[in-house]
Amino acid sequence: MSKTAIITGVLGQDGSYLTEYLLELGYIVFGIHRRISTEGSGRFDNISSVINNPRLRLIPADICDFQHMTFLIRDLKPTEFYSLAAMSHVGHSFSEEVLTHQTNATAVAAMLNAIAAYSPVTRFYQASTSELYGGMSGLERLSEDSPMRPNSPYAIAKLSAFHSARNYRERKNGLFAVNGILFNHESPRRGLDFAPRKITRGVASIKLGLQNKLCMGNMTARRDIGSAKEYVRGMHHLLSLGAPVDAVIATGKAPSIWDLLEFVCHLADLKPEDVYQEDPRFMRPSDVQILVGDNSKITSLGFHPKVKWEQTLQEMYEHDYNALLKGK
Ligand code: NDP
Repeated sequence: MSKTAIITGVLGQDGSYLTEYLLELGYIVFGIHRRISTEGSGRFDNISSVINNPRLRLIPADICDFQHMTFLIRDLKPTEFYSLAAMSHVGHSFSEEVLTHQTNATAVAAMLNAIAAYSPVTRFYQASTSELYGGMSGLERLSEDSPMRPNSPYAIAKLSAFHSARNYRERKNGLFAVNGILFNHESPRRGLDFAPRKITRGVASIKLGLQNKLCMGNMTARRDIGSAKEYVRGMHHLLSLGAPVDAVIATGKAPSIWDLLEFVCHLADLKPEDVYQEDPRFMRPSDVQILVGDNSKITSLGFHPKVKWEQTLQEMYEHDYNALLKGK
């Protein structure tokens, strides 16, 4: 019999790549998306390559509708559950604090509660994040054992979900529940208001004469940047292990936002200082200066991130340049 998976956030960057990957592996995928985001607008672009696959079943549901999610878990009893839906933008979480907590923390606890009650054999993946660490650890590489001191409403809520997953694992008759602590990962499907995508889209737009300047916030922040398409395989890998563990997925390299801009400007044959404009609107009330991951645990468990940030940024720039040329 085919394995089944529920993926929340199926239309997002990671949800769409994970859907493609699990379908390739022969899974039946139940993809949860918000009706409010798709009704009328047909925003199914990220899954357009698989939308007619009969093993993909799209289900409109809001993860904050706890009763609906409980019924879905009770009725579908999936082999695997990927908890990817979230208010995923750190900057926006400062102005949408309560909604962020409800989506990123409370809804996750409710889904775990439903799995424990109705489908305890389901393996549960929680989309945890390097933002959990906050800015405490300086230049050292962050591992599963590094202290966590979140610095934004996004990360505070994610820390609550992290501990919910850990606690459901460690209880008597515990669940197979894991946290993938993923450092930043990008792709041409990344939201347009995330810095790397803003850079690739903005520079492509300037190159084509459609825009004059790129308004950005903190350019000195450094992030460990991987490939979304590659990292979703790590999510599946974690749920395929013999025992549930939390693990960092990272590359171990952390360019600054300015490094990303320089690299993309080089591709476009532009000068970064001609393109960049500092804009205080994009400065966060509190920021994390550097996040670089130690991926030795996940590599010892058989998953080796290989894609370099330059490769990902180049793919994003080329995608954005060609899309803008076609007027998209
Ligand atoms: P995206 O923002 O691309 O996708 C998140 C998805 O969640 C969106 O499709 C969004 O739908 C959906 N969603 C939000 N709220 C709800 C809700 N209440 N009910 C149902 N669906 C909802 O994020 P990514 O794919 O980049 O990230 C996936 C997960 O991994 C997130 O939890 C994120 O926080 C986490 N993460 C991401 C990292 C990264 O670098 N990308 C790093 C570490 C962790 P809608 O379009 O309707 O808003």
